[in-house]
Amino acid sequence: MKKDDCIFCKIANGAIPSATVYEDEAFRVILDIAPAAKGHALILPKEHYDNLWELGQEEAEKVMSIAAKVSKAQKAALDCDGVNVLQNNGVAAGQTVFHFHMHLIPRYDNDNVMIPWNTLSYEDGEAMDVCEKIKTAMK
Ligand code: AMP
Ligand code: ZN
Repeated sequence: MKKDDCIFCKIANGAIPSATVYEDEAFRVILDIAPAAKGHALILPKEHYDNLWELGQEEAEKVMSIAAKVSKAQKAALDCDGVNVLQNNGVAAGQTVFHFHMHLIPRYDNDNVMIPWNTLSYEDGEAMDVCEKIKTAMK
């Protein structure tokens, strides 16, 4: 389904023009309008999903396949030293456009792109408790 007031639905389906680097029947990959690095791309499904939690398993597999294809082309075309694959879900995670998208950000040795986080540590046994909770939720 498409969502009427969603800018990424409009872009993905060609109603708003974009710099498109890849397109197939279900996805469009565009350049981000405010890139962290030149060639920063976004993978957009043509159907509307708010986030990864709504995306079907089949679409999720296709997204990763497209990420591999486009990131290899970024490496070859832009001669980047790395690529960050990022995908934000929910305000808490920094999502600002609520139509699923995956970022592919070209990186260069010693560039000024920052994707930092502070690290925590687990108490004794805590990692296994958290692990079990997630495993159980998957059943
Ligand atoms: P996120 O914070 O993960 O939701 O990322 C949203 C991204 O969409 C940001 O990197 C924006 O620069 C990008 N963006 C927003 N509007 C447009 C647009 N019209 N065309 C291309 N990229 C956009
Ligand atoms: Zn949408």
